Amino acid sequence: MTMTNLPLLDSFGRRHNNLRISVTDRCNIRCFYCMPAEQVKFLPRAEILTFEEIERLVRLFAQVGVDKLRLTGGEPLVRTDIDRLIRLLKGIPQIRDVAMTTNAVTLARHAERLKLAGLDRLNISLDALNHDTFLKITRRDVLDQVLEGISAAQEAGFTRIRLNAVAIKGLTEAEVLPLARFAWERNLELRFIEYMPLDSEQNWADEKVLSGAAIRELVEHEFGPLVPAPRTDPAQPAFDYLYAGGRGRLGLIHPVTAPFCGTCNRLRLTAEGKLRNCLFSLEEWDLRSLLRQGVAEPLILEQIRTCVAEKRPGHLIGQQQFERPERTMHQIGG
Ligand code: SF4
Repeated sequence: MTMTNLPLLDSFGRRHNNLRISVTDRCNIRCFYCMPAEQVKFLPRAEILTFEEIERLVRLFAQVGVDKLRLTGGEPLVRTDIDRLIRLLKGIPQIRDVAMTTNAVTLARHAERLKLAGLDRLNISLDALNHDTFLKITRRDVLDQVLEGISAAQEAGFTRIRLNAVAIKGLTEAEVLPLARFAWERNLELRFIEYMPLDSEQNWADEKVLSGAAIRELVEHEFGPLVPAPRTDPAQPAFDYLYAGGRGRLGLIHPVTAPFCGTCNRLRLTAEGKLRNCLFSLEEWDLRSLLRQGVAEPLILEQIRTCVAEKRPGHLIGQQQFERPERTMHQIGG
């Protein structure tokens, strides 16, 4: 092991091996906790990293211990030929896992090609099964397409599919049990995520957070006591549970009421090539300019290391010093 390929440790000893790559800031729906309903200013194409630039950066990250990738957006499936990028990334020897987070609106069209390209896992955003609630959240009437997308992914042979549901008090309590049943019946893993202050209209408030504990209570009321599942990956954001009887898995991600920043292993690359050391980072490191200026790779690695070294202990939500990042969720990627 030489100096140049030492793993990415921050000042708290957290090792960063998980890179989330936003491949676009564009999306085909308008979830209110993520982006504005109208007049969204998207990045011009020329400012977005090309697949080859993403591949070059990932090869650098792989030299310093990154082995897990997640493709995000906006909505990654709106980026043309995304399967070509998956093949490029799967071709990097150190990369052992490539996953994608999608809203599944067009997944029925892409599922087979993604599977053939070698995509390992799918996280599918689904906050509601009730049409009106789904419409209220996404501002697009596409629930049927999402459900078709989920079926198509299972038919294409994806076995590691997770449903991600953002939980919002006063809006999605009535969705908790229908989603749990839906996932349980289809042998899909389900995760509930607490609502976070990254919405563009800045309507987030503490009292709108439906906590992980409250969700667990709702589910246990119907399904009986949940059994904590062994925590195989200490850095994973979710706390997983098994249903009584051992079949079916449910995860709770509670960044607001029980933060898990202490074991965070995640870095984020925005669509235009800015590196963020945290979802709530107030600073960014521009890797795209370095790439396009032909800067030597060791100097780009130095920037990556500086970004990691500057990482704060956690997000500070609920504390006086908390400052919302300028970017909204669709400009960062989940
Ligand atoms: S808020 Fe930041 S530090 Fe905390 S888990 Fe998320 S990305 Fe990691």
